[in-house]
Amino acid sequence: MKLAAGEFTDRGKIRELNEDSFLVDNELALFAVADGMGGHRGGEVASATAIEALRAAVASGDPINAAIERANGAVLDRASGDNDLAGMGTTMTALVVAGARRLLIGHVGDSRAYLLRDGELHRVTDDHSLVEELVRQGRLTQEQAEAHPQRAIITRALGVEPEVDVDLYTVDVGVGDRVLICSDGLTTMLRDREVERIARLESDPVRAAENLVDAANDAGGEDNITVIVIDVLEVDEDAPPDPELLDAAVEPDAPAPVVAPEPPAVPAPAPTRTKGARLRGIRGVLLLVVPFVAIVAVATAAVGWYARRSYFVGTDTGKVVIFKGVPGGVLGWNPTVDERTTINLADLSAVDRDRVDGGAARGSLDRARAFVDRLKAGIAATSTTTLPTTTTTRPRVAVPTTLSATAPPTT
Ligand code: MN
Repeated sequence: MKLAAGEFTDRGKIRELNEDSFLVDNELALFAVADGMGGHRGGEVASATAIEALRAAVASGDPINAAIERANGAVLDRASGDNDLAGMGTTMTALVVAGARRLLIGHVGDSRAYLLRDGELHRVTDDHSLVEELVRQGRLTQEQAEAHPQRAIITRALGVEPEVDVDLYTVDVGVGDRVLICSDGLTTMLRDREVERIARLESDPVRAAENLVDAANDAGGEDNITVIVIDVLEVDEDAPPDPELLDAAVEPDAPAPVVAPEPPAVPAPAPTRTKGARLRGIRGVLLLVVPFVAIVAVATAAVGWYARRSYFVGTDTGKVVIFKGVPGGVLGWNPTVDERTTINLADLSAVDRDRVDGGAARGSLDRARAFVDRLKAGIAATSTTTLPTTTTTRPRVAVPTTLSATAPPTT
């Protein structure tokens, strides 16, 4: 197979660093994009480390899935023992030639591979992102996913765990086919239709890659943008069919045998191994997605319950009142006045006034009522201790008019 590749990468218009890395190795017929993430320079280091480990592994004869697993280990190793790099990770979408007419793509994360054939763009890879998982579950539409505030959350990456599930796709190609590999900086800025239009328009792969990056920048350039364009110039027509190609052709209801996801492990995986890997993959996704959704649901319900069942003592127009809700409100639940009292805020001691101002006796209605009772008792107690002085003072104030000489005021 004869290929021609062009690539282009750009920091974009917002980010300070370019944390994407890529590989175009014509000798190995290996092409890859990695989109790194992590604080400090973690993202850059993660993607560069993964790309270099991938190249070394493929050069030493590893199949693509094993090479990506080694890249995962390399990122973990690099991060361990360096606090600045802790928690870094990277996506990886890598393509190798795997037969006379066959490409193999290994994929983890939300970078993407596309196939442009006869002017039509087909997406090859599934994103391992939260919103894409929700789209696949039918819980979000594609349009909602594209505008979703959490669309950058990915559910699989290299550098997170010692084991990583690598999705494998075979793409059987012919002359004139064009494959794109890109980071999400392209696809979050451009719709697939726009990518298709630009990729179709420019025949030179180097300029096509550059045009795509330019268009993403024109659309905002909110992330690093990397694109590799790989054109299939020649295939070996005389070669025997690639293994499994006939199987794929006779498969009863395969609508598009062009792009078929394949189970992991290149050299004929045993069915049990495949099944295990599949299950692990699904569980891995659930572990990430279900807790997230569940946590949000439970938290929202708990907050709502708490906000609606809770009471506290506060003030309204100078009077002490019992509110239903949480002081200040929470997630749209604003407190409402539930019971009014005749207690003036001004009659409270400074300490009680502060407590009431901040929302006192939070919890049940009984608790709030008991606190109000204590406030009343407190005022009464203060009154009984202060009353004698007022009652004795008043006559003394009044005294001078009648008994000014006989009752000189004392302390
Ligand atoms: Mn990115």
